[in-house]
Amino acid sequence: MTQALATTPQTVSTARLSSWSLLLNNRLAAAGLLVLAVIGLIALLAPWLPIPNPNATLPANRLQPVLSEGHLLGTDHLGRDILARLIWGTRVSIAVGLSATAIAALIGSVIGLVSGYARGVTDNILMRGIDMLMAFPYILLALAIVAVLGPGLLNALYAIAIVNIPFFARNVRGVTVGLASREFVDAARLSGKSHAAILFTEVLPNVLPVIVITMSTTVGWMILETAGLSFLGLGAQPPQSDLGSMLGEGRRLLFNAPHVSIIPGLMIFALVMSINLLGDGVRDVLDPRLRAGDLTRPQAVTRFDRRTQPPQPSGARDILEVESLETSFQRGRATVPAVRNISFTLGKGECFGLIGESGSGKSVTALSLLGLVASPPGIITGGTVRIEGEDVFSRSETGIRALRGAKVAYVFQDPLTTLHPLYRVGEQIAEAILAHKRIGKTEARARAIALMEKVGIRDANERVDAFPHEMSGGQRQRIGIAMALANDPDIIIADEPTTALDVTVQAKILDLLQDLRRERGLALLLITHDFGVVAQMCDRVAVMKDGEIVECGRTADVLRAPRHEYTRKLIACVPELGQGKAFLESVRPLFAEVKP
Ligand code: ADP
Ligand code: MG
Repeated sequence: MTQALATTPQTVSTARLSSWSLLLNNRLAAAGLLVLAVIGLIALLAPWLPIPNPNATLPANRLQPVLSEGHLLGTDHLGRDILARLIWGTRVSIAVGLSATAIAALIGSVIGLVSGYARGVTDNILMRGIDMLMAFPYILLALAIVAVLGPGLLNALYAIAIVNIPFFARNVRGVTVGLASREFVDAARLSGKSHAAILFTEVLPNVLPVIVITMSTTVGWMILETAGLSFLGLGAQPPQSDLGSMLGEGRRLLFNAPHVSIIPGLMIFALVMSINLLGDGVRDVLDPRLRAGDLTRPQAVTRFDRRTQPPQPSGARDILEVESLETSFQRGRATVPAVRNISFTLGKGECFGLIGESGSGKSVTALSLLGLVASPPGIITGGTVRIEGEDVFSRSETGIRALRGAKVAYVFQDPLTTLHPLYRVGEQIAEAILAHKRIGKTEARARAIALMEKVGIRDANERVDAFPHEMSGGQRQRIGIAMALANDPDIIIADEPTTALDVTVQAKILDLLQDLRRERGLALLLITHDFGVVAQMCDRVAVMKDGEIVECGRTADVLRAPRHEYTRKLIACVPELGQGKAFLESVRPLFAEVKP
């Protein structure tokens, strides 16, 4: 890969996009940020702005309309300047919202951290307390608290903070419970750290994103709730005012002077809306899973952006022809090829081996053949794949999907992760059949059993109802092969089908593939990192290194006279019985090179 980086001219940075640019890529979040920044700046600068005293009354000048002289937004029922009151009121509302969020986050997170980490009685007591808070309707509880404490802005703030504590406590506890049993926490315990130190140096940093996300999504709510209390006269008391109390005072004049209530109403809307849009954006950016795909979902088919016209087919026709295939990945703003210039052919009934160390691009090549590389970030940037002479990438999405599983089937490396854990294996095989054939459920089940027998699973009649976790690794791989065979494909692509298995099972699976190939005339593309497997199975082999094929030829020829140094090292990696120390000597240089 490093070599690939060095040989392609780089004009754009491949660094990961910063959180900032990711956030600004999200148009709504950027708009929210802009609106919020403008509102916040004006509110912050209120004492220095050339606006009248917000509390100076002048009854003679009451209820001036918008755009009247000296009062841009008019005046209210006491002749006070609405613009000045709006700016000062916004200041109060933002300050109360932020403080309430901070208090709720602090107390709630501590409760969540402690109960999630301590578990047992502490957890029980704390969480039942939280449950009691949650048992009351939310705004009613806030009203009750203010009724006890007495009306006033500060008491409204406390009330709002208290009713929001459960959200933080619950969220944080959930994450902490998962983290507290992880190995790195055990390791910290073994190193003799105190519980408090573990909680704040090991657990807290992992929980912090959750706290920030919860904060960013609740600030808007808290501002709204404080405004609600003030609207009812329980929050800000005259002469002090926040947006809610302005709205409450204006309500009585809704018909005579609608602007008095509409203006603070619009401000609340703009404020809460911008905070929520920004909060959503922040949440997306902080979630590493959403980050990975540049905040977009993978598409059903790999994106194609071939800069060169696909080459025309030459005379000879093999069942699978790959010509100068190039697949790239987006990194930051650049696209970097992961595999380049891949050309090979696969004839009917032939077994073609693709061998190379981990990371050399074997899986990317295999997935590219039917447009299965996740996109974004993957893009097919060049070359062509022909199946029976027809360019695959020129087909529509549905066209490519019709090929998958029917004409070309995959067997993956780790069947435990590719089989669905909650469905019985028989159902999964049947599903593979039903994706391409219209047959009844019972018939599909009968076929699934037949396929399982075919791939050598004993008592297929009973095992058909087993879940993947009830089977051994070898059996699961046989299920994977059965699914691949479900629609009588012409080509099977097996991506390291035996790497997860032990040696005896590996031999059996390879024998099975070999038999199927002879019996059904299947073409087999076998991906592996083991020359022993290639020697046993493949007619021809291509050696991959750093995303390119460095050597290709008949297996016997390559084994006898490898032309590339790298091939020689790979061959030397196959241990022979009784070779012992000599084997270690021969693989040492390989490891020396592989290590960065
Ligand atoms: P292997 O030969 O072990 O199967 P792969 O084909 O999986 O290797 O990977 C080849 C190269 O492509 C690696 O350098 C890997 O980092 C890169 N790669 C694979 N998948 C992705 C992805 N989703 N995003 C970015 N790079 C990827
Ligand atoms: Mg792989």
